[in-house]
Amino acid sequence: MSASDHVNLEKFMEGVEKRNQGQTEFIQAVREVAQDIFEFIEDKVEYHEAQILRRIAEPDRVVSFRVCWEDDNHNIRVQRGWRVQNNNAIGPYKGGLRFHPSVNESILKFLAFEQTFKNSLTGLPMGGGKGGSNFNPRGKSDSEVMRFCQSFMTELYRHVGPDTDVPAGDIGVGAREIGYLFGQYKRITNRWEGVLTGKGLEYGGSQVRSEATGYGAVYFMANMLKHKGDSIEGKNAVISGSGNVATHAAEMILNQGGKVLTLSDSGGFIHDPDGMTQEKLNWVKHLKTVKRGRIQEYCDEFSGATFHKGERPWGVACELALPCATQNELNEEEARALVKNGVMAVAEGANMPTTLEGVHVFQEAKIMYGPGKAANAGGVAVSGLEMSQNAERISWDSDRLGKLLEGIMAEIHESCVTYGDQSDGYVDYVKGANIAGFKKVADAMLAYGVV
Ligand code: NDP
Repeated sequence: MSASDHVNLEKFMEGVEKRNQGQTEFIQAVREVAQDIFEFIEDKVEYHEAQILRRIAEPDRVVSFRVCWEDDNHNIRVQRGWRVQNNNAIGPYKGGLRFHPSVNESILKFLAFEQTFKNSLTGLPMGGGKGGSNFNPRGKSDSEVMRFCQSFMTELYRHVGPDTDVPAGDIGVGAREIGYLFGQYKRITNRWEGVLTGKGLEYGGSQVRSEATGYGAVYFMANMLKHKGDSIEGKNAVISGSGNVATHAAEMILNQGGKVLTLSDSGGFIHDPDGMTQEKLNWVKHLKTVKRGRIQEYCDEFSGATFHKGERPWGVACELALPCATQNELNEEEARALVKNGVMAVAEGANMPTTLEGVHVFQEAKIMYGPGKAANAGGVAVSGLEMSQNAERISWDSDRLGKLLEGIMAEIHESCVTYGDQSDGYVDYVKGANIAGFKKVADAMLAYGVV
């Protein structure tokens, strides 16, 4: 970055900070993207004149609303709901709903901003949005969750629609919540239409949607390796998490001839030096989705595995690392341990699992590092394909969807290489993803004039 770029960046960020006081996550996300974009647009006067970056960093609108519901003890509870519609230059707003006590406007604005670039990278016509509530579904009865979802949708329905804004699930919003939300939308509007994705297969959901994020992250990793003439075959993988993304990433590592050594949950990690099999993974899926058990039970079932209470798996030697649990779960020290132990490639299944300092360790060591924005875009890509199927009133088979997902991940990888290739041959996938995601949105905005 040149000196004048740096001055412009700091001036730009001063304005962002002034307009979004106290919204630390949002300000941080804008800074991370702006660094790469300022360098890219240095000689592109049209983007400066039209103030494109400033406009993308100002959500089209933020809707916040009251959500009242009655708990099982007949107490009236009041929560806050939001929908952040960041940018719809290339398609209807699209992004998940998160129900978690930590949810606030800054977090949703940051996620909606990031989603704008991620969705653009998929090549599908989807803008960026995000929403949710500070409601915590954990420990609530099904009836309480249903009443909350119905109340939430009673306000949200007026802001969404299949050509306007199409939410999906995220933390705390799974198949159960999507079902309740969709049912209430249908009841209020008297319309069956693809207003949400992640639906059940019985009512308009898509094949391959549940596998898409984990499989897609491994496809992205395979593409990074292929770019250097290598493959997943015969390599050891360390994976965190044991939910949807982690178990499907593990499955695809096996399919591609790799060995999966670890999985984890918030209680600790399990290490299986013999490697996992499909049978063992099926057992984990059942444990987590049906029995709602803990990952440490794996060691009672399969001999040779050990449980490491309260620890994360990054100290286990491997060539491949896939953080698939949660944000900020891989710090600088852990990144250094991975590099020391010979890691070659990192692909993020989770959103922002590596701290900024950890990312710098990977980049300085020239490790292939696929940020979540690119590597976990397979989930929203298949959501985009769910929208297409709903619009056509048809369901595609899993073969077709699997091939489409694989093709989209290869194209995302290619776009990252186009804009992230460095003079020494190292690919800066963070920079590549930021610029490729920005360019398409920015060019559409230029075409619209000042609106
Ligand atoms: P799940 O709820 O299915 O699984 C989350 C996993 O992470 C669980 O094993 C959970 O363990 C573990 N976990 C949660 N918090 C912590 C913690 N503090 N420390 C260690 N482990 C933890 O979620 P998903 O698999 O769907 O999502 C995982 C990540 O992927 C999230 O960051 C999500 O935003 C991201 N993502 C998901 C997409 C999707 O399509 N599902 C799409 C794109 C990104 P425990 O059971 O103990 O809570």
